[in-house]
Amino acid sequence: MHGRVLVIALMLPLAALPFAKKQKSPQQKEVKVQKTSLSREQELQLGKQAAADVERTLEVVHDPAVEAWLNHIGQQLAKQPQANAYPYYFKLVNDESINAFALPGGPMYVHTGLIRSADDESQVAGVLAHEMSHVALRHGAAQMGKAQTWQTIAGLAGAAAGMTGSGILTEAVQMGGGLGVGSLLSRFSRGYEQDADLNGARMMASAGYNPLDLAGFFEKLEAQMGTAASPKGLEKFFADHPAPGRRRDYIEQDITFYPKKTYNSATGEFAMVQKAVASMPPPKKKPGAALSAAQSKPREGIPQGFRDLQTKGFAVAYPGDWKAAQTKSGGTVYLVPEGGAVQRQSGGVELIAGAMIDYYEPQGGSANLQTATSEYLQSLQQGDRNMHVENTQNAQIGGRPALVTRLTTRTSFQQDPGQVVTVYTVAREEGLWNLALAAPQSKWSEAEPVLQQIAKTVQFPD
Ligand SMILES: [Zn+2]
Repeated sequence: MHGRVLVIALMLPLAALPFAKKQKSPQQKEVKVQKTSLSREQELQLGKQAAADVERTLEVVHDPAVEAWLNHIGQQLAKQPQANAYPYYFKLVNDESINAFALPGGPMYVHTGLIRSADDESQVAGVLAHEMSHVALRHGAAQMGKAQTWQTIAGLAGAAAGMTGSGILTEAVQMGGGLGVGSLLSRFSRGYEQDADLNGARMMASAGYNPLDLAGFFEKLEAQMGTAASPKGLEKFFADHPAPGRRRDYIEQDITFYPKKTYNSATGEFAMVQKAVASMPPPKKKPGAALSAAQSKPREGIPQGFRDLQTKGFAVAYPGDWKAAQTKSGGTVYLVPEGGAVQRQSGGVELIAGAMIDYYEPQGGSANLQTATSEYLQSLQQGDRNMHVENTQNAQIGGRPALVTRLTTRTSFQQDPGQVVTVYTVAREEGLWNLALAAPQSKWSEAEPVLQQIAKTVQFPD
């Protein structure tokens, strides 16, 4: 083709030259690394925090053969110049929905559902290359710089970088307001999408995978959208990665600029991997998921003036002038009056008065209420030498068998450092659910009725 054009051009008379000059050969589209107000160090720190959130929420599965395979592909891609030298690592998530995502700085998660629905290794490599390109081109980081939640993010990033802040509620994530991992990744612009496709295609080709398989997999999934065959999570996947036009067309166009190459990097292990993934047990329920806000349904019996908080794992109501907050998505839930929680020097949060809800994961994975509770209390005591357990009794909360433990400890609250705490524990699939109700010693008799009202509003979904 090129040779022919050249011949025609040579045969043109001299006068036609300016016209011929106009027909410039097409240029390969430039792909830009985005500018962002986050430093590379902050970006890595942010990714690390988000990875911890992810792993509280999703089950990372360990299967040596599948992990080795995934890491092999990932590292082949990671060493290409298009990957921008981030410290990528790859983990397998037990989740049947279609997804794979990379966090700023390089942690990357691949759902088993994605591997199940791919036709071959090269298609999986295509999704990895696309997601890694969002990291390499700093799309998540750039997006955060523009986000409305910038204040919150800056606070969190600051805390991570060892800066001290004031009052946890200025830095905490207001429940439902959500600085989830989602806001680091979701809804890339179409411009970013195309750049991730092109950069990903180039990364694939350099690593020895056919770049057209990137387009092929996206096309396959797009064709299944809204049909009965549509895998779980597909709508969300495409909401996050909107099609910027015909991926295949512009990738084909881009390939014309690549050096000639045979694409033969596939390991030949894909059949084994799909088989291993198909035989994995259903995902475990994780505390981080249970602590994430759920869509609220109206509930009966909420005391007047109380506000309702519904998560995926429980519902609880609290006085209307208190605040519900988490310092990270999927983290401990705090229900506190003004000044009820303060930030520790170490960066943690100290409950002075109010309620705190979390899950404890017993070492041996014991679902037994007694065993798990005593293990939990021991772990609390190890972290707090001022703590004294007074007694533990059988109780009920949310209609479930529970244990209620009364303990005392000391806080940094100068006026009255003595603290009384009542802890309810319930054995749940995600771990040992625990609700701590606390107040300074001198305020306990005043606070107790309100704290007990909170406990009475607890409900579990099943
Ligand atoms: Zn994308």
